[in-house]
Amino acid sequence: ASKAMREYEVVVLGAGGVGKSALTVRFVNDSFLEHYNPTIEEQYRREIAVDGEHIALEILDTAGAEQFTALNEVYITSGHGFLLVFSLTHEASLHDLDNIRQQVLHIKQGEPDLPIVIVGTKMDLYNEREVTSGALQELATSWGIPFYETSAKRNWNIQEVFQDLTKQMKARYPDA
Ligand code: GDP
Ligand code: MG
Repeated sequence: ASKAMREYEVVVLGAGGVGKSALTVRFVNDSFLEHYNPTIEEQYRREIAVDGEHIALEILDTAGAEQFTALNEVYITSGHGFLLVFSLTHEASLHDLDNIRQQVLHIKQGEPDLPIVIVGTKMDLYNEREVTSGALQELATSWGIPFYETSAKRNWNIQEVFQDLTKQMKARYPDA
């Protein structure tokens, strides 16, 4: 008998305007979300093939993650994997990830090996860049979390982000 497709819940977190929705929509629809609507919070479903296996991802694109709400706690509790998103053009948004990461760890009550990927967005905006690759690498290494520099506009490294996270989720939750 064939086994039902594995399914994982992904939560996309980060400050407003960093490109969480554009990243999600690029992955789900392969299109670029030009228009900025900070209040949209939506769940998407998309399959991904990892190591020859098709896996279903339920992706929650959150809004207003600056303040952690009761709703965010519910999402994080049920989430298997987390994308910590900041903009390479806005240094403060990288510092915001520290607090967001602490919240995830707190809500997950010290569970080991949580699947997490750090995502730097808007790599195409070279002239507006505020975060160097070196600074990003240093922070990500100190946290022990993989990181990617991406562009939803140009479709750079978007697949790689979701591949990495899904591999981590498969390893961490093999029975999902
Ligand atoms: P969110 O609040 O984190 O969901 O941010 P959005 O995804 O809505 O993006 C905010 C703005 O940044 C929108 O106008 C997007 O079109 C723009 N944006 C997002 N990602 C990129 C990118 O990779 N490159 C460029 N040039 N703009 C982007
Ligand atoms: Mg959004």
